[in-house]
Amino acid sequence: MSEEALEKAWSNHSILWKENVWVYPVISRRAGGISIGINLNPDKHCTFDCAYCQVERSVPGLSLKNDVIEIEKELDKIISAYEKNGLADFVSFQNVEAEKRMIKDICISGDGESTMSPIFPQVCAMMRRKQDELSQYPLQLTLITNATLLDRENVRKGLKILTEKRGEIWAKLDAGTENWYKKIDRSRIPLEKVEQNIEGAIRDFPLRIQTMLCQVQGEFPSDEEIQFYIQRLQKIYAICPQNFLGVQLYGVVRHTAIPDVLPLKKEFFQNVAEKIHAVLPVSVQIF
Ligand code: SF4
Repeated sequence: MSEEALEKAWSNHSILWKENVWVYPVISRRAGGISIGINLNPDKHCTFDCAYCQVERSVPGLSLKNDVIEIEKELDKIISAYEKNGLADFVSFQNVEAEKRMIKDICISGDGESTMSPIFPQVCAMMRRKQDELSQYPLQLTLITNATLLDRENVRKGLKILTEKRGEIWAKLDAGTENWYKKIDRSRIPLEKVEQNIEGAIRDFPLRIQTMLCQVQGEFPSDEEIQFYIQRLQKIYAICPQNFLGVQLYGVVRHTAIPDVLPLKKEFFQNVAEKIHAVLPVSVQIF
Protein backbone atom coordinates (compact mmCIF):
# COMPACT_ATOMS: atom_id res chain seq x y z
CA MET A 1 0.00 0.00 0.00
CA SER A 2 1.20 3.51 -0.68
CA GLU A 3 0.67 6.91 0.92
CA GLU A 4 -0.86 7.69 -2.45
CA ALA A 5 -3.65 5.14 -1.88
CA LEU A 6 -4.37 6.65 1.51
CA GLU A 7 -4.40 10.20 0.12
CA LYS A 8 -6.78 9.01 -2.57
CA ALA A 9 -9.09 7.41 0.01
CA TRP A 10 -9.04 10.58 2.15
CA SER A 11 -9.97 12.79 -0.74
CA ASN A 12 -12.61 10.38 -2.04
CA HIS A 13 -15.54 11.02 0.27
CA SER A 14 -18.07 9.51 -2.04
CA ILE A 15 -21.10 8.70 0.03
CA LEU A 16 -22.18 5.81 -2.13
CA TRP A 17 -21.76 2.25 -0.98
CA LYS A 18 -23.46 -0.49 -2.98
CA GLU A 19 -27.23 0.10 -2.92
CA ASN A 20 -27.14 2.03 0.33
CA VAL A 21 -28.92 5.36 0.42
CA TRP A 22 -28.11 6.59 3.94
CA VAL A 23 -25.05 4.76 5.25
CA TYR A 24 -21.55 4.79 3.76
CA PRO A 25 -17.97 4.05 4.84
CA VAL A 26 -15.11 6.52 4.37
CA ILE A 27 -11.48 6.53 5.39
CA SER A 28 -11.32 9.60 7.54
CA ARG A 29 -8.17 11.46 8.49
CA ARG A 30 -9.98 13.04 11.42
CA ALA A 31 -11.33 9.74 12.74
CA GLY A 32 -7.97 8.03 12.06
CA GLY A 33 -9.52 5.07 10.24
CA ILE A 34 -12.88 4.01 8.89
CA SER A 35 -15.77 6.26 9.75
CA ILE A 36 -19.25 4.97 9.02
CA GLY A 37 -21.26 7.95 7.91
CA ILE A 38 -25.01 8.32 8.22
CA ASN A 39 -26.43 10.76 5.71
CA LEU A 40 -29.77 12.08 6.97
CA ASN A 41 -30.00 14.45 3.99
CA PRO A 42 -30.30 12.46 0.78
CA ASP A 43 -32.53 15.45 -0.12
CA LYS A 44 -29.40 17.71 0.15
CA HIS A 45 -31.26 20.21 2.35
CA CYS A 46 -29.09 22.47 4.46
CA THR A 47 -29.42 25.65 6.50
CA PHE A 48 -26.07 26.84 5.11
CA ASP A 49 -25.01 27.32 1.52
CA CYS A 50 -21.24 27.21 2.03
CA ALA A 51 -19.02 28.55 -0.70
CA TYR A 52 -16.76 25.54 -0.12
CA CYS A 53 -19.52 22.91 0.05
CA GLN A 54 -18.44 19.71 -1.64
CA VAL A 55 -21.91 18.26 -2.12
CA GLU A 56 -22.78 17.90 -5.79
CA ARG A 57 -25.87 20.12 -5.98
CA SER A 58 -26.18 20.16 -9.76
CA VAL A 59 -27.75 16.70 -9.33
CA PRO A 60 -31.04 17.00 -7.41
CA GLY A 61 -31.34 15.21 -4.07
CA LEU A 62 -33.66 12.29 -3.42
CA SER A 63 -37.07 13.03 -1.98
CA LEU A 64 -37.00 10.21 0.48
CA LYS A 65 -38.38 9.90 3.99
CA ASN A 66 -35.67 8.98 6.51
CA ASP A 67 -36.49 5.64 8.08
CA VAL A 68 -34.52 4.52 11.12
CA ILE A 69 -35.21 0.81 10.51
CA GLU A 70 -33.87 1.03 6.96
CA ILE A 71 -30.90 3.07 8.14
CA GLU A 72 -30.06 0.41 10.71
CA LYS A 73 -30.28 -2.32 8.04
CA GLU A 74 -27.81 -0.43 5.87
CA LEU A 75 -25.48 0.05 8.82
CA ASP A 76 -25.64 -3.68 9.59
CA LYS A 77 -24.71 -4.50 5.99
CA ILE A 78 -21.57 -2.40 6.24
CA ILE A 79 -20.63 -3.89 9.59
CA SER A 80 -20.99 -7.43 8.16
CA ALA A 81 -18.86 -6.49 5.16
CA TYR A 82 -16.28 -5.00 7.52
CA GLU A 83 -16.26 -8.16 9.62
CA LYS A 84 -15.83 -10.30 6.50
CA ASN A 85 -12.81 -8.62 4.94
CA GLY A 86 -12.32 -5.18 6.50
CA LEU A 87 -14.05 -3.58 3.47
CA ALA A 88 -10.87 -4.31 1.51
CA ASP A 89 -12.83 -4.83 -1.71
CA PHE A 90 -14.56 -1.43 -1.53
CA VAL A 91 -13.27 0.41 -4.56
CA SER A 92 -12.46 3.62 -2.64
CA PHE A 93 -10.30 1.70 -0.13
CA GLN A 94 -8.24 -0.27 -2.62
CA ASN A 95 -4.59 -0.66 -1.61
CA VAL A 96 -5.14 0.95 1.78
CA GLU A 97 -3.43 -1.23 4.35
CA ALA A 98 -5.46 -3.04 7.03
CA GLU A 99 -4.33 -0.94 9.97
CA LYS A 100 -5.68 2.19 8.27
CA ARG A 101 -8.97 0.38 7.72
CA MET A 102 -9.85 -0.04 11.40
CA ILE A 103 -13.38 1.00 12.19
CA LYS A 104 -13.32 4.07 14.45
CA ASP A 105 -16.64 5.80 14.58
CA ILE A 106 -20.21 6.13 13.45
CA CYS A 107 -20.79 9.67 12.37
CA ILE A 108 -23.90 11.58 11.41
CA SER A 109 -22.72 13.60 8.46
CA GLY A 110 -23.89 13.84 4.89
CA ASP A 111 -25.26 15.98 2.13
CA GLY A 112 -26.87 18.62 4.31
CA GLU A 113 -27.64 19.58 7.90
CA SER A 114 -28.52 16.36 9.71
CA THR A 115 -30.29 18.01 12.63
CA MET A 116 -33.04 19.10 10.23
CA SER A 117 -34.27 15.50 10.17
CA PRO A 118 -37.34 14.88 12.34
CA ILE A 119 -35.99 11.42 13.24
CA PHE A 120 -32.67 12.78 14.51
CA PRO A 121 -33.22 11.55 18.13
CA GLN A 122 -34.29 8.09 16.96
CA VAL A 123 -31.14 7.80 14.84
CA CYS A 124 -29.00 8.83 17.83
CA ALA A 125 -30.71 6.16 19.96
CA MET A 126 -30.09 3.51 17.30
CA MET A 127 -26.40 4.51 17.07
CA ARG A 128 -26.05 4.38 20.84
CA ARG A 129 -27.54 0.87 20.89
CA LYS A 130 -25.19 -0.23 18.09
CA GLN A 131 -22.24 1.15 20.04
CA ASP A 132 -23.12 -1.26 22.87
CA GLU A 133 -23.86 -4.18 20.57
CA LEU A 134 -20.50 -3.69 18.83
CA SER A 135 -18.57 -3.35 22.06
CA GLN A 136 -15.65 -5.31 20.53
CA TYR A 137 -14.82 -2.06 18.70
CA PRO A 138 -14.36 1.08 20.83
CA LEU A 139 -16.64 3.10 18.60
CA GLN A 140 -17.01 6.81 18.99
CA LEU A 141 -20.30 8.46 18.02
CA THR A 142 -20.05 11.81 16.30
CA LEU A 143 -22.39 14.44 14.99
CA ILE A 144 -20.96 16.86 12.42
CA THR A 145 -23.18 19.92 12.33
CA ASN A 146 -23.28 23.55 11.29
CA ALA A 147 -24.80 24.27 14.73
CA THR A 148 -27.74 26.28 13.41
CA LEU A 149 -30.35 24.02 15.04
CA LEU A 150 -28.55 22.85 18.17
CA ASP A 151 -31.04 24.71 20.37
CA ARG A 152 -34.04 22.69 19.15
CA GLU A 153 -35.60 20.47 21.79
CA ASN A 154 -35.69 17.50 19.43
CA VAL A 155 -32.01 17.92 18.64
CA ARG A 156 -30.98 18.28 22.28
CA LYS A 157 -32.89 15.09 23.04
CA GLY A 158 -30.79 13.26 20.45
CA LEU A 159 -27.53 14.82 21.66
CA LYS A 160 -28.18 13.66 25.19
CA ILE A 161 -28.31 10.06 23.96
CA LEU A 162 -25.47 10.39 21.45
CA THR A 163 -23.03 11.76 24.03
CA GLU A 164 -23.77 9.27 26.83
CA LYS A 165 -20.63 7.25 26.03
CA ARG A 166 -17.76 8.45 23.79
CA GLY A 167 -20.04 10.80 21.89
CA GLU A 168 -18.98 14.17 20.51
CA ILE A 169 -20.45 17.10 18.63
CA TRP A 170 -18.23 18.58 15.94
CA ALA A 171 -19.68 22.03 15.41
CA LYS A 172 -18.81 24.35 12.58
CA LEU A 173 -17.56 27.83 13.41
CA ASP A 174 -16.07 29.26 10.24
CA ALA A 175 -15.93 32.96 11.04
CA GLY A 176 -15.39 35.69 13.58
CA THR A 177 -17.12 38.49 11.73
CA GLU A 178 -20.56 38.55 10.16
CA ASN A 179 -18.92 39.73 6.92
CA TRP A 180 -16.67 36.72 6.45
CA TYR A 181 -19.44 34.43 7.69
CA LYS A 182 -21.75 35.73 4.93
CA LYS A 183 -19.05 35.18 2.38
CA ILE A 184 -18.07 31.67 3.42
CA ASP A 185 -21.23 30.10 4.91
CA ARG A 186 -23.84 32.16 3.02
CA SER A 187 -26.63 31.52 5.54
CA ARG A 188 -29.60 33.67 6.52
CA ILE A 189 -29.11 32.59 10.13
CA PRO A 190 -26.89 35.19 11.87
CA LEU A 191 -23.43 34.20 13.10
CA GLU A 192 -24.44 35.36 16.57
CA LYS A 193 -27.13 32.69 16.64
CA VAL A 194 -24.62 30.01 15.59
CA GLU A 195 -22.33 31.03 18.43
CA GLN A 196 -25.18 31.08 20.95
CA ASN A 197 -26.20 27.59 19.89
CA ILE A 198 -22.64 26.31 20.31
CA GLU A 199 -22.51 27.91 23.76
CA GLY A 200 -25.82 26.29 24.69
CA ALA A 201 -24.59 22.89 23.49
CA ILE A 202 -21.18 22.98 25.16
CA ARG A 203 -22.80 23.69 28.50
CA ASP A 204 -24.13 20.12 28.45
CA PHE A 205 -22.25 18.11 25.84
CA PRO A 206 -18.64 17.47 24.73
CA LEU A 207 -17.92 19.53 21.65
CA ARG A 208 -15.15 20.18 19.16
CA ILE A 209 -15.02 23.22 16.92
CA GLN A 210 -14.42 22.67 13.21
CA THR A 211 -13.25 25.60 11.14
CA MET A 212 -12.77 25.81 7.39
CA LEU A 213 -9.98 28.16 6.37
CA CYS A 214 -9.83 28.95 2.68
CA GLN A 215 -9.62 31.67 0.11
CA VAL A 216 -12.99 32.68 -1.36
CA GLN A 217 -12.94 34.44 -4.71
CA GLY A 218 -9.74 36.31 -4.06
CA GLU A 219 -10.40 37.08 -0.39
CA PHE A 220 -8.95 35.28 2.58
CA PRO A 221 -9.52 35.66 6.34
CA SER A 222 -7.86 38.92 7.47
CA ASP A 223 -5.92 39.36 10.73
CA GLU A 224 -8.94 41.15 12.14
CA GLU A 225 -11.22 38.29 11.11
CA ILE A 226 -8.95 35.76 12.84
CA GLN A 227 -8.84 37.96 15.94
CA PHE A 228 -12.66 38.04 16.17
CA TYR A 229 -12.81 34.31 15.48
CA ILE A 230 -10.45 33.60 18.38
CA GLN A 231 -12.50 35.86 20.63
CA ARG A 232 -15.53 33.71 19.85
CA LEU A 233 -13.53 30.59 20.68
CA GLN A 234 -12.58 32.16 24.00
CA LYS A 235 -16.22 32.91 24.82
CA ILE A 236 -17.24 29.35 23.98
CA TYR A 237 -14.36 27.88 25.98
CA ALA A 238 -15.28 29.99 29.01
CA ILE A 239 -18.78 28.44 29.12
CA CYS A 240 -17.46 24.96 29.93
CA PRO A 241 -13.70 24.27 29.52
CA GLN A 242 -14.06 20.56 30.31
CA ASN A 243 -16.50 20.07 27.43
CA PHE A 244 -14.30 21.96 24.97
CA LEU A 245 -12.50 19.10 23.21
CA GLY A 246 -10.41 21.14 20.80
CA VAL A 247 -10.33 22.86 17.45
CA GLN A 248 -9.96 21.30 14.02
CA LEU A 249 -8.73 23.59 11.27
CA TYR A 250 -9.22 22.20 7.80
CA GLY A 251 -8.99 23.29 4.20
CA VAL A 252 -10.52 22.48 0.84
CA VAL A 253 -9.42 19.28 -0.88
CA ARG A 254 -12.23 18.57 -3.30
CA HIS A 255 -14.39 20.48 -5.78
CA THR A 256 -16.41 23.32 -4.23
CA ALA A 257 -19.90 24.83 -4.65
CA ILE A 258 -18.66 28.01 -6.28
CA PRO A 259 -15.51 28.58 -8.33
CA ASP A 260 -12.33 30.08 -6.94
CA VAL A 261 -12.51 28.62 -3.47
CA LEU A 262 -8.88 27.78 -2.94
CA PRO A 263 -6.70 26.20 -0.28
CA LEU A 264 -4.49 28.39 1.92
CA LYS A 265 -0.83 27.74 2.64
CA LYS A 266 0.19 25.46 5.49
CA GLU A 267 1.82 28.47 7.21
CA PHE A 268 -1.55 30.21 7.38
CA PHE A 269 -2.98 27.29 9.36
CA GLN A 270 0.06 27.12 11.61
CA ASN A 271 -0.19 30.83 12.29
CA VAL A 272 -3.87 30.56 13.29
CA ALA A 273 -3.08 27.54 15.48
CA GLU A 274 -0.32 29.48 17.25
CA LYS A 275 -2.66 32.40 17.88
CA ILE A 276 -5.24 30.06 19.40
CA HIS A 277 -2.60 28.36 21.53
CA ALA A 278 -1.43 31.75 22.80
CA VAL A 279 -4.77 32.34 24.54
CA LEU A 280 -6.39 28.94 24.99
CA PRO A 281 -5.06 25.67 26.49
CA VAL A 282 -6.75 23.50 23.87
CA SER A 283 -5.69 21.02 21.23
CA VAL A 284 -5.63 22.44 17.71
CA GLN A 285 -5.43 19.94 14.86
CA ILE A 286 -4.73 20.88 11.27
CA PHE A 287 -6.15 18.75 8.47
S1 SF4 B 1 -23.05 23.01 6.17
FE1 SF4 B 1 -22.05 21.30 5.13
S2 SF4 B 1 -23.61 20.46 3.75
FE2 SF4 B 1 -24.32 22.47 4.42
S3 SF4 B 1 -23.68 23.82 2.77
FE3 SF4 B 1 -22.08 23.85 4.37
S4 SF4 B 1 -20.59 22.30 3.77
FE4 SF4 B 1 -22.47 21.95 2.57
